Amino acid sequence: MFESPAYLKSPLWVQEGFLSLRAHARKLLREGAAFRRELADVTRTQWLDEKAMQALQLERVQGMVSHAIRHVPYYRDLIREKGLAPDFIQTLADVQQLPFLTKQIVFDQGPAMLSEIARGPRFSASTSGTTGMSMTAYRDLHAINRENAFVWRCMMWAGLQPGEPRVWLRGDKIVSPTAEQPPFWRYVKADNMLMMSSYHLSEASASSYIDAMEKMDPVVIQGYPSAIFLLARWLLTAGRSYRGKRLRCVVTSSETVTSEHRDLVKRAFGCHIIDWYGAMERMVAIGNCEHGTYHAMADYSYVEFMPLADGTHEIVGTGFDNFLMPFIRYRIGDSVVLGDPAYRCPCGRAFPVVEQIIGRVEDYILTPSGRKVFMMSNMLDSLPGVLEGQIRQESLDAVRVLLVAARGCGPIKADEVIKRGQMMLGGDMKIVVEEVTEIPRTKNGKVRVVVRDIQP
Ligand SMILES: [Zn+2]
Repeated sequence: MFESPAYLKSPLWVQEGFLSLRAHARKLLREGAAFRRELADVTRTQWLDEKAMQALQLERVQGMVSHAIRHVPYYRDLIREKGLAPDFIQTLADVQQLPFLTKQIVFDQGPAMLSEIARGPRFSASTSGTTGMSMTAYRDLHAINRENAFVWRCMMWAGLQPGEPRVWLRGDKIVSPTAEQPPFWRYVKADNMLMMSSYHLSEASASSYIDAMEKMDPVVIQGYPSAIFLLARWLLTAGRSYRGKRLRCVVTSSETVTSEHRDLVKRAFGCHIIDWYGAMERMVAIGNCEHGTYHAMADYSYVEFMPLADGTHEIVGTGFDNFLMPFIRYRIGDSVVLGDPAYRCPCGRAFPVVEQIIGRVEDYILTPSGRKVFMMSNMLDSLPGVLEGQIRQESLDAVRVLLVAARGCGPIKADEVIKRGQMMLGGDMKIVVEEVTEIPRTKNGKVRVVVRDIQP
């Protein structure tokens, strides 16, 4: 919609008016009585104890599975094929009698994944297709309201109340791609939100972004980690920190956040990060609470953490809320490091604890000896004078490390990068460091730390 020539050619005030109208329409549809009911519900369920939470999970899994086998052709056929009784789910473990659902199955089944009795508006979202196969997920209004309620619960953990000022810095195409001068943002009055374009953010434009943020003085800055970290590194390189007075929290999602990133934001912006990991398939949500602990939201979905050979656990999730397109035992392809099950977070919530989100199971570098090396972002952590980077593998015995240098910091220490790389990947891997002016973005404007073109 934003990419339409009519929008992009309009004067700024028309664009801002249009964005505000659109925000109003979304509010009418998505923040009505049904949304407020769901927000009240999730505000309550976050405090359930372990036993009550398990009871809630069982009830929701039973509800979703029973709906799916009655009204969704794929599941109806599956149950028949497996010879399962309609009420086969008596405990949470019983869901394991169903096979995993994969992106390939969803892709192949097409409309057979959708409920035959769905009424009302449908909302769709597609993957950016960076891994080759693009998939569309459909949601009903109930799922939208529930999601919105969970997002708002997270924003409240971050200290934001509805109506308070915030900055939004993600891949929304709100500014013409050919624009060379600020403003690279638009103010959306209906949301009291400054919407900023991540596409126009660079070392050269960073100061104008910081100025605009300080002028607005938001309570929360929401954005892609890569965009926020670029600003944080820019601030520290410039020898200054963010001067806004009201900022309580930085909220990130969609890309991996490391402890180095948290430290950077603390130093540059003077606040902590609340990171949110979700999926368009709506079968998992993991977010930081006020104490910085990652919790898997047990009132959002039922997640089975499947052990992998490297000690991490793969996410297999069953969503509770999208009756239009149920995702049951969906294998999304991301993995996590689980937290100590005995740990009790000071926030008092009984949600399971996750130590770290590793991200895509496919995001690894393959060595000539056949080893898969994960967590490659460690290679780029705390590199002096580097704004951002990416590791690309185009052949089995070599990787290219693309780095964007911060101006005025002297040359990048390529030797250090190569040394770290060899420690992680072994001596038989050729590592080439290339200084570039920008890191290529995905279609949605995200930065992928690892891009691997070869298959094992
Ligand atoms: Zn907590």
